[in-house]
Amino acid sequence: MVNITFPDKSVKEYRDGITGYEIAGSISPRLAKEVLSITVNGDLWDLTRPIREDASILLHKWEDEDGKHAFWHSSAHLMAEAIEILYPGTKFGIGPAIEQGFYYDIDLPVGIVLTDADLPVIEQKMKELAYSNEPYKRREVSKKEALDYFGKKGDEYKLELIDELEDGTISFYSQGSFTDLCRGPHLPDSGRIKAIKLLSLAGAYWRGDIKRKQLTRVYGITFPKQSQLDEYLDLLEKARERDHRKVGKELELFTFSQKVGLGLPLWLPKGAFLRDRLEQFLKKVQVQYGYEPVITPHIGQKELYVTSGHWEKYGKDSFRPISTPVEGEEFMLKPMNCPHHCEIYKSKPHSYKELPVRYAEFGTVYRYEQSGELHGLTRVRGFTQDDAHIFCRPDQLKEEFIKVIDIILYIFKALDFNDYIAQISLRDPEDTEKYMGSDESWEKAEKAIIEATAEKGLNAVTVIGEAAFYGPKLDFMVRDALGRKWQLGTIQVDYNLPERFELEYIGADNQKHRPVMIHRAPFGSMERFVAVLIEHSGGKFPLWLTPNQVVIIPVSEKFNDYAEKVLKFLNNYDIRTLIDERSEKVGKKIRDNELKKIPYLLVVGEKEKNSDSVAVRIQGEGDKGSMQLKEFAEMIVRETEDQLKKAD
Ligand SMILES: [Zn+2]
Ligand SMILES: [Zn+2]
Repeated sequence: MVNITFPDKSVKEYRDGITGYEIAGSISPRLAKEVLSITVNGDLWDLTRPIREDASILLHKWEDEDGKHAFWHSSAHLMAEAIEILYPGTKFGIGPAIEQGFYYDIDLPVGIVLTDADLPVIEQKMKELAYSNEPYKRREVSKKEALDYFGKKGDEYKLELIDELEDGTISFYSQGSFTDLCRGPHLPDSGRIKAIKLLSLAGAYWRGDIKRKQLTRVYGITFPKQSQLDEYLDLLEKARERDHRKVGKELELFTFSQKVGLGLPLWLPKGAFLRDRLEQFLKKVQVQYGYEPVITPHIGQKELYVTSGHWEKYGKDSFRPISTPVEGEEFMLKPMNCPHHCEIYKSKPHSYKELPVRYAEFGTVYRYEQSGELHGLTRVRGFTQDDAHIFCRPDQLKEEFIKVIDIILYIFKALDFNDYIAQISLRDPEDTEKYMGSDESWEKAEKAIIEATAEKGLNAVTVIGEAAFYGPKLDFMVRDALGRKWQLGTIQVDYNLPERFELEYIGADNQKHRPVMIHRAPFGSMERFVAVLIEHSGGKFPLWLTPNQVVIIPVSEKFNDYAEKVLKFLNNYDIRTLIDERSEKVGKKIRDNELKKIPYLLVVGEKEKNSDSVAVRIQGEGDKGSMQLKEFAEMIVRETEDQLKKAD
């Protein structure tokens, strides 16, 4: 017999060799139907694997990441089986579950190229295989056996993977006619996969190495119920509508040019306006919080980054150093602003009384990304951080954290990010060797972060072992209107750079001390933040931020003069207004301007001209009736102010 301990600590006795599936069945038939995988003594297992010793278990259903993971990983195997049947001779790279679904990297037989039109065919084959309810069978194999199997099959990718494994740790999973090298866990059978959709194709270098063969990556997603797939596809469609690359084009915010270079965004006038407005907004808050703006160049001597340690991190795999006519002189495009700010701190002596010092800069940095990794504004090669570095005494850490949290929450409110998660990353107490700084400083800093988040009432998740080697941190993730998670602002303690740059202040004891450095960027970067903002709002920005607040639509050319008058009037109130003077029908002008997401549309004709009024339409909501010009202007000013006040 074996003793099985459940998550609620209750213990039950079962026969030796009982499986997770059978345990679930002993609790309820419904649970047996819903359960997807099991954790046994901390390891993820298949439900069908016999348990031969006393164990603590955790059963995973769909709701649980580990359950989904087994489901999607099993689906990747099912897809591979279908592909092998349809395209015999295909070789397989890796096929993992990902955050949303799964993929498999495949090397198709010579002469075969997959297109989107092939996806439904593979999908259909997968459905047939799922319907036949094939069990996933695990088998432990010796290294020799594994090499023999894939050697005979001629799959050099699997052979390479097996080569790196230790004998005695290798397992195969088979379902139907397909066998894969795999650690598992998998579903008991493919019959649970009820809804299948293959989503897209992409190229992917074997092991992410551009020097190696490019394989075909097939993405897909599956669900236990058709209704879940329908819901997902609906969400995907909405996400497509809001894709910042699409909306950015429609609203003329930014563009890319092959000639300028991949991953280097060009901000169009409206996008530049939006970005500038965000910068002004943050600059204003920062002044209130005692930040001092600084400006530093886009390049720095290689030695600067050798000192900071960034040469080691970005030197080899990023943009190559820039040389000059002087022999031996080398510069780097700056990958980080911090080294420059350290040198600014060092430009004069500091006493404990003048700390904290807070230097802020919208600093543009450059980091090389492979062309395949680039994505709109979220993965670029040059971007501007809303960066600042705080140099403070250890006893000031908590207060400084509270202040930065205040700024971040203010921004979230002003921009309607109401759903956010804070994550505290601490060091691994079992492995303190790998971290910079004394135990005492770490304990102090971690305590400061934990207390600061608690005092701000943040419901923070704490993750042990996720801290950087140079200090603990606090990250903010927002959930957008479609429920997708985005990583935004970050606050990070650093014991490393003050050491490397030998930063000092004179303490009350007249002795030299090291300040603590905090890196913080509430937006993260302007590029990424604007992208997230677009995906969150679908391009419908808050009134205070949007480039054009009002568009005037004269019903015919006869009223262009009156439109001009309205424009001047609104400009006096600093309301950002434009006129659509095209000689199009009113209906068409309304439709076109609706698409530009301008919040207010004012239609003007004879009646409005004679009464100094405007016919007001709200974007997406339609006609709101007539208003006196002055009344309208005052309403817009009030609405703008209220939006920003709400965040205070
Ligand atoms: Zn696998
Ligand atoms: Zn920094």
